Amino acid sequence: EAKAKSRNGYCNYSSSMNEDSVERLLMETNLNKALERKEFVLLYQPIIELNNNKIVAAEALIRWQHPDLGLIPPARFIPLAEETGLIKPIGYWVIRTVCEQLKLWQKQYGMQDFRIAVNISAIQFEDEDFIEKVKQILQETNVHPSHLEFEITESVMQNIEKSMAILGELRTLGIHVSLDDFGTGYSSLSILKHLPINNIKIDKSFIDDVKFADDETIVQNIIDMSQNMKFKVVAEGIENEIQLNFLREKQCDYGQGYFFNMPLPVLDFEKKLV
Ligand code: C2E
Ligand code: MG
Ligand code: MG
Ligand code: MG
Repeated sequence: EAKAKSRNGYCNYSSSMNEDSVERLLMETNLNKALERKEFVLLYQPIIELNNNKIVAAEALIRWQHPDLGLIPPARFIPLAEETGLIKPIGYWVIRTVCEQLKLWQKQYGMQDFRIAVNISAIQFEDEDFIEKVKQILQETNVHPSHLEFEITESVMQNIEKSMAILGELRTLGIHVSLDDFGTGYSSLSILKHLPINNIKIDKSFIDDVKFADDETIVQNIIDMSQNMKFKVVAEGIENEIQLNFLREKQCDYGQGYFFNMPLPVLDFEKKLV
């Protein structure tokens, strides 16, 4: 339709704007129905303890299996889900699905020390009902809070008082918390020290740079500083042995990345557990 209009003399600019908003509207309508149509899937990427190569946890990563568009990565729909508020029901679906998966894996494989990490959008983290809903999901799925981990980004620092209160409640509950993508935001180091969190995840962009001497210093400093503050350190996006050896040498606690495993469908993840 937009093409027909441009032949009729509308300028290309407005017709393409039109196509964009049509596409957005389509996406939004589709996203609205994706939950009830059960189109979301979770992949699980192993998190490895670097000094013994054991899988100690997994990060759940969402995909949208769209009937026409195929598998859509989170970067292409999470921002829209955040703008429309759909991120809340989607986010609670992720937490519930992860708890159900934990229960299944515990039954089949034991895995008493195993955790699954869930990415929590700032909008959901600040939802008035967040803590109540999380408690309810844990109760209904009968999962112990210590098996659940939430990954939040430095953006929560913008509302520091509220965030501190929520983090405090999570700690009381016994849910682990990681600060994701560390180094890409604007964390105040003086606040960082007082955050009731467990892990710091070094952003992939810094791990990418481990081959140039200067940037290796950054990674080493993040590891040292975090460990001095009593946090465990996770390196994300490990893609080769040079990076892995460097991180091991610097005593980074945990790592994940394509060098170990891609994010895996449930059945492939299970093959790693036996
Ligand atoms: P993130 O939490 O920082 O997740 C790490 C991303 O890096 C994932 O991308 C993962 O697949 C990718 N990755 C892991 N190892 C490697 C590696 O060695 N090389 C490369 N190139 N990439 C690697 P993905 O799955 O596309 O997710 C992107 C972002 O979307 C996540 O970044 C997270 O912020 C967000 N996200 C994913 N799932 C969820 C979810 O369930 N809820 C929310 N709110 N956000 C999610
Ligand atoms: Mg993450
Ligand atoms: Mg990350
Ligand atoms: Mg990242």
